Amino acid sequence: MKISERTKHAKAEGAFEVLAKAQEIERRTGKKVVHMEIGEPDFPTPQGIIDACKKALDDGKTHYTPAGGIPEFRTAVAKHLKKTRGIDVDPENVLVTSGGKLLIYSTCVAFIEPGDECIVPDPGYPPYQSAVGLAGGISIPLPLNEENGYQLTAEGLEKLITPKTKLIIINTPQNPTGGVLSRNELEKIAEVIKKTNAVVFSDEIYSDLIYSNEDKHFSIASIPGMLERTILMDGMSKTYSMTGWRLGYAAVPAKFYNSMKKIVNNTVSCCPAFTQIAGIAALEGDNPEVHQMWKHFSERCDLIYKLVNDIPGMSMIKPKGAFYAFVNVKPILEKYSITSASLAQAFLEKAYVACLSGSIFGSQGDNYVRFSYATSKEDIKLGMDRIKELVTKEYPI
Ligand code: PLP
Repeated sequence: MKISERTKHAKAEGAFEVLAKAQEIERRTGKKVVHMEIGEPDFPTPQGIIDACKKALDDGKTHYTPAGGIPEFRTAVAKHLKKTRGIDVDPENVLVTSGGKLLIYSTCVAFIEPGDECIVPDPGYPPYQSAVGLAGGISIPLPLNEENGYQLTAEGLEKLITPKTKLIIINTPQNPTGGVLSRNELEKIAEVIKKTNAVVFSDEIYSDLIYSNEDKHFSIASIPGMLERTILMDGMSKTYSMTGWRLGYAAVPAKFYNSMKKIVNNTVSCCPAFTQIAGIAALEGDNPEVHQMWKHFSERCDLIYKLVNDIPGMSMIKPKGAFYAFVNVKPILEKYSITSASLAQAFLEKAYVACLSGSIFGSQGDNYVRFSYATSKEDIKLGMDRIKELVTKEYPI
């Protein structure tokens, strides 16, 4: 008996592995670990959303739903996409899933034949490569560089396109870099893609979390001719602090919709009605907490940027969005001949700060570690103080 080769391509998600390890250290030592490993807002879900869910449960909304999602939520999503991106999407083309992550897998399974190529950002969200591998495809990493603010460039993309390119994954705002793709570059990227037969998966899960005044979220799907070839994914996890609710969605071109829906239907069947009703309250309700959360993230972004750049041997450019600090630790790694994985391990075991090695996100991340700043300012200060002390003592530059 043997596990399939495809399955071996899937990696466990590093953030969940480090979280388990950090919790084990907490249990064993009784020490407080500062959790900066997982990308999850530390705020409760806004009350209006919780109330809508409770009411739905009391109203008996506890049964199977249509595989594509309930019409009311799909309509709310279509209106939201019009309002936020200016895109006209028929509610019939909105596919609702248990979290946005399932859409990454469903898209790969729907489009990739064994041996097909999929271009993925490097550094990038690890499940992209896992899903491509599970579908039998080959990931082609597209390097993103700190020097140009982690812009994915049309020029860089064009060099990697071959007749086997089936899928191109883009992500803005980005995990793990905090980079935001500019409208200007996305327009050039669209021109390159239009010359191919490739489908685009646009991961816009952090679309509402942009802090720099000069940048605004821009979706590649809003460029004429792109909606027809783009799976535009977004979801409730990050903006509304609804990670545990597992609710995501995509705008899917009509010609692909039923095939994608079949994959969702054959895996999770459908999404609970009560979470989708809560999703309507999120997209259409008042929810003042959402702006408050954004404000906190924006302030934490300023704070971590200042604190990290004050630690000798560590530096970062200012993230524009999402809630991650992608920190360059190359001077330390080179001087002490260690990897980012061993430095992240030392941060956890010696300074009791959990973060991720940049190499988890691809080889371009080898000289980096990622801190999630979706945690309180007090914890960010405590975490960076502990790291500064450790680095000054054990890894002086
Ligand atoms: N895409 C990116 C870039 C993410 O960082 C995450 C979660 O960390 C997801 C997708 C998955 O989000 P969801 O909770 O909707 O599955």
